[in-house]
Amino acid sequence: MYTNLNRIRADIEMLSTFNDSDGEGLTRFSLTKADRGARNYLKNALEKLDLKVYEDAAGSLIGRLEGSEPLAPTILIGSHFDSVRNGGHFDGPAGVVMALEIMRVLKAKDIKLRHSVEFVAMIEEEGGRFGAGVFGSRAMTGQVTYEDLVKHKDEAGISMAEAFEAFGFDPKKIGEAARKPESIKAFIELHIEQGPVLEHEKIDVGIVESIVGIREFRVIIKGRPDHAGTTPMTLRKDALCAAAEVISALPKYASRAEEGTVATVGVLEVKPGAANIIPGKVEFTVDIRSRHASAIQIVQDEIEKKLNDLANLNGIQFEIEMLLSVKPVAIDAEVIKCFKGQADQNQFSYKMMNSGAGHDAMIMASIAPSGLIFVPSKDGRSHCKEEWTDYDALQKGIELICHSIIELGR
Ligand SMILES: [Zn+2]
Repeated sequence: MYTNLNRIRADIEMLSTFNDSDGEGLTRFSLTKADRGARNYLKNALEKLDLKVYEDAAGSLIGRLEGSEPLAPTILIGSHFDSVRNGGHFDGPAGVVMALEIMRVLKAKDIKLRHSVEFVAMIEEEGGRFGAGVFGSRAMTGQVTYEDLVKHKDEAGISMAEAFEAFGFDPKKIGEAARKPESIKAFIELHIEQGPVLEHEKIDVGIVESIVGIREFRVIIKGRPDHAGTTPMTLRKDALCAAAEVISALPKYASRAEEGTVATVGVLEVKPGAANIIPGKVEFTVDIRSRHASAIQIVQDEIEKKLNDLANLNGIQFEIEMLLSVKPVAIDAEVIKCFKGQADQNQFSYKMMNSGAGHDAMIMASIAPSGLIFVPSKDGRSHCKEEWTDYDALQKGIELICHSIIELGR
């Protein structure tokens, strides 16, 4: 193997020490002391390799290895280094350590590539502090403005713009983080699977072929809050009964749409919320994911049709408030072919997969060919302190990307 297991383990363990919830999983929010510690550790490691190290205008950390043709488009490799509250030590850092280890291999073996390669550690992917998910990649693809930085605030009311300044970045320059599509040859990410499939099927790596589209909306149903004892069943406008009909039909709607479509209600609020009052108002969220945009639309249409039927039947009213809509992303065919070839050559077993979660690679795909490799998650756990990937399993993913970068970069 080109990569080194001990270095990979040491990097993961060291990054785990920059943590605001010791013993209770990893909490590393953006632009905090823990962020600074991890950032400095990575900067040091990159500077030791003699790379051009800098932070982009969004605060993502970059280490650039110049190719023999400086004007040829750059290959970016990496993931994010922030975490959710009480998350795990691998979601994000696994991909950052991948990029660092590959930079070490390219330097140590003096591998000359035509294309420049950049290590990227993205900021605020989880949105843990400011609720601004996939922030680093959105900035890199030109989707963030100064107004966004003013708008996004943490729990203490500190805006991202203020936190940027306190950290030594100029929020007014955020636009400069945008890259030109023609300047990037590919963005390659490694991430833990966050599901049980690879471990269960004893497969080394997952080669992601598509990232699901996500649509989230809030359904607000208005009925009438009447007395639970004196209002006959036939004269009620019970908002919760209506909501329950919609929610219990979701598994049917999702399975009737195209294969693999999932739909979830994660939040449900009942008002006024007393045992002896008929629910007058119910709000719930719906999260629909599929690799086919049409399937997402089918589920939403079914929900709206059901709500209309209920409105006609018993006079409830409803509204739908869109929260998030991201289109499905197909992973670049050339990158997939390269991954498959290198997996065969290095004798790693692989499985073609869909990603059910959003990642920086999904955003980067809007301006450049993107690739995403999954490594096994123990028991499928993630976003918790139990999150774990065996180091030799992680190394296989890194090794695969290492050889792929050498092939793509030549
Ligand atoms: Zn992640």
